[in-house]
Amino acid sequence: MRIVKTPICSFDAKTGILCSKCESKLKTGHLSIGDIEASMKLTELADKNNIIDKFTLVGAHKIDEELILILPTSDISILRSNMELLNYIKKKFNNGVWFIESGATERRFIENLIFPVKIVSINLVWLPDGNKLTKIIISKKKNQNTKIDTALITKIAKEMRNIELLVEYID
Ligand SMILES: [Zn+2]
Repeated sequence: MRIVKTPICSFDAKTGILCSKCESKLKTGHLSIGDIEASMKLTELADKNNIIDKFTLVGAHKIDEELILILPTSDISILRSNMELLNYIKKKFNNGVWFIESGATERRFIENLIFPVKIVSINLVWLPDGNKLTKIIISKKKNQNTKIDTALITKIAKEMRNIELLVEYID
């Protein structure tokens, strides 16, 4: 039987109690609170859904109340071609869920964060102090029906990838 793969043991994910091995991984920072919460939640959903049951959760980050899940590109493609499933997962995560492809490049990571909004252009801007900004430009006109939370996206990019993101809009 195939069962959703998570960073913690599937038994722990099912019971909601960490074994001593996972507990020590948490203490040493090899597992995060996000990994644990996302593993348990996704396992609960997988119990009632055989598509989710085939997913592999590579890892997860918790930033504020948001859970950012890292999944293989193939799992993310399944989600994006199945709005019903995507909305179901979003609802179960109280709308605080994000999906990032594992191994994503910086650009891909940003595209994942703002999906389905598309980037018009992306540029690195070097500041006089040697730091760099990643500036993305988004078209207002093309994305009238999709609102993105710039502050939250900027925060996630900084905490997960140390990207100083600057979002600009054009008409
Ligand atoms: Zn365990």
